[in-house]
Amino acid sequence: MIHLTRPELRFAVDAVTRASELTRQVHQESKFRPVLKEDNSPVTVADLAAQVLVAQLMLERFPEERLVAEESSAVLKSRDGKLVLKHLCDVLRPWIPDLGSECIYELIDRGQEKTCNRFWTLDPVDGTKGFLRGKQWAVAMALIEDGKVQIAVLGCPNLSRLDGSSAGPPGFVVAATRGEGSWARALGTEEWTPLQVSSCREQASARILRSYEPAHTDLSRIERLAAFLKVQQPLRAIDSQAKYAVLSSGAAELLVRFPSSPRSAYREKIWDHAAGSLLVEESGGRVTDLDGMPLDFGAGRHLEKNRGILASNGHLHDITLRAIAEL
Ligand code: AMP
Ligand code: MG
Repeated sequence: MIHLTRPELRFAVDAVTRASELTRQVHQESKFRPVLKEDNSPVTVADLAAQVLVAQLMLERFPEERLVAEESSAVLKSRDGKLVLKHLCDVLRPWIPDLGSECIYELIDRGQEKTCNRFWTLDPVDGTKGFLRGKQWAVAMALIEDGKVQIAVLGCPNLSRLDGSSAGPPGFVVAATRGEGSWARALGTEEWTPLQVSSCREQASARILRSYEPAHTDLSRIERLAAFLKVQQPLRAIDSQAKYAVLSSGAAELLVRFPSSPRSAYREKIWDHAAGSLLVEESGGRVTDLDGMPLDFGAGRHLEKNRGILASNGHLHDITLRAIAEL
């Protein structure tokens, strides 16, 4: 059975469940219009509201804990900021009664803390572009201690089946604690089922997951890798860490993320991989960078010491790393 006795796990499951429901409600009511952040990436009221909600729950239950999260209040100071703030107040009213607009700035920016030996990381809407397209997004939360993920919870509100085959309700919450396995439940239910990666050992039968957004990875290198491995199935494009949930459920064998170009200075953000990586490991799989190095979540807000990501069912990990090195 899943050990929901650990208060931190109970808290994270509750926070991610509520934030997932909030983002889905915003999506269903089409109450969002993206605004651009300083780095030109889109953000919506769902991203900001989910971060405020989790920060508020953390303040109530674990006020001493640190939060390192994707969003900041900077976007509320932009040209469209006033409108977004008003919209944010409307969306949050049913979730946090008596929330003043001045508290919203403070709650969002609780996520701007520095990393240290113990902190939580949060991506309130991972895959904002998938959210905008009505495909996949995830609420991703993880507890990191000494550079290692200890607790992981992912909400995938628009995953209708854990195999990732279609979008829609009910959505899933998946959770893992280091050393204790991984579990999934449909949103709105209480029953957890254990997760287990695929037992496939045949490289030609591997099902490969990749980003939907071509700008987030080097698609031609993934295609060359698939050809080199003589993989028969077409690549599957899924947004966000929902890919890690699909891999953990046994419905795919490999998740590959090459930097978008060989000269790219992009470093992966910790909140984009922390929850997903523990989930895969606790489902029996393996996660490293493209050189086979473990992901180091203790180097700040980015995976400064790692390049790219390879997550697998374990059986096909070494053979894929060798293929990547040869290519
Ligand atoms: P995915 O849906 O797997 O592509 O992951 C979405 C995440 O990709 C977002 O949360 C961004 O933080 C991240 N991202 C944005 N730009 C890039 C980039 N150039 N390379 C890799 N990841 C990126
Ligand atoms: Mg993200």
